[in-house]
Amino acid sequence: MKKTLLLLPGPVPVAQPVLEAMAWPMINHRGPEFAELLARLERGMRPIFGTEGDVLFLGSSGTGGLEAAVANAFSPGDLLLSCPVGAFGKRLADIARTFGCTVEELDTPLGAGVDADALRERLKRDTAREIRGILLTQNETSTGVQNDMETLARAIGDHPALRVVDAVSGLGATRFEMDAWGYDIVVSASQKALAVPPGIAMVAVSDRGWDAIEHAKAHRYYFDLRKAREFARKGQTAWTPPISVFYALAVSLERYHAEGIDANFARHARYASAIRSAFETLGFSIFSRSDAHSVTVVAAVPPHGVDASALLKTLRESYGVVLSGGQGELTGKIVRMGTMGDVSESDLLGAIGAIELALADLGAAVSLGMGVAAASQVLLGRVAAGV
Ligand SMILES: *Cc1c(COP(=O)(O)O)cnc(C)c1O
Repeated sequence: MKKTLLLLPGPVPVAQPVLEAMAWPMINHRGPEFAELLARLERGMRPIFGTEGDVLFLGSSGTGGLEAAVANAFSPGDLLLSCPVGAFGKRLADIARTFGCTVEELDTPLGAGVDADALRERLKRDTAREIRGILLTQNETSTGVQNDMETLARAIGDHPALRVVDAVSGLGATRFEMDAWGYDIVVSASQKALAVPPGIAMVAVSDRGWDAIEHAKAHRYYFDLRKAREFARKGQTAWTPPISVFYALAVSLERYHAEGIDANFARHARYASAIRSAFETLGFSIFSRSDAHSVTVVAAVPPHGVDASALLKTLRESYGVVLSGGQGELTGKIVRMGTMGDVSESDLLGAIGAIELALADLGAAVSLGMGVAAASQVLLGRVAAGV
């Protein structure tokens, strides 16, 4: 197989020691070794969620975690305020509708984050306190947008609605303080910034969240968080877990904390800034607004005259560099480049060099080396991250 460089916003490149952990022998998932493993994972994840509360591990992709959040916290007929800023926010709203909730969407233009004032205003008008839940996306992977979750928490203020967050593609890459900011159910997954193969969804639940879960009436079985908690207390998962992915997560979390939580945040921010700088230099326009850039994925519109799908194809076939395209209405219009996983500075610079070559192949006017130079300035710290 040709050597490839995967720079997707999930799944992401996984470091060799993490991959090797997947080859360890099976253990009894109802035995003491698994209990010890689960305890390590809980200890490793709590500071990343910013919680002292329960963190549950489900055998599923991220969407299963989102379904678990909705199915456990709400009842058919509940009014939810969904705040989508792209395809993943819409998916969460769809899940809620599927479980019988009445979903109102707070509109945000594509490329922007949720307007805190608009959210505050909408909640202020809810004088009868009819809104039971607020659905938010920490990092919208389809548009390369990151919401300011601290400011949004302040905008929600003392409204009693349960706050559910899809943090799948942001958690671990940028600060999240679940307890301090007052979020109730927060969902992440193994295959994004935690740099593990797919297979585990993590769901963190606040005390208020548990209260809602006890009273909710939606149907749930496999993803019943009450069962998940009951088993977690015994050092187990409710059902047979993907044990190999649990091993991988343990190794990845060890590496994560050895690097340091702040160093992880800084690395993702620096990489995203370097990519944006390179893209702008090469004539792309960054899709996210300047106050809402994601640190885990950069979405950009190719230079005039360059077809996004042709660029992705040339990159993949000629240079072994795999980026993503747009989803939904953005299909064929943007490219997306991820910063997550086992990605080195030289990987980034190599990929940017390949983008220059692909642009040249497609007949675009490109000054070779200019994108690499722009990214290098950021990586060297000569240009502040956040450009
Ligand atoms: C990747 C992702 C998900 C989960 O997708 P799965 O394919 O189910 O793992 C959910 N939300 C966001 C924002 C994501 O980036």
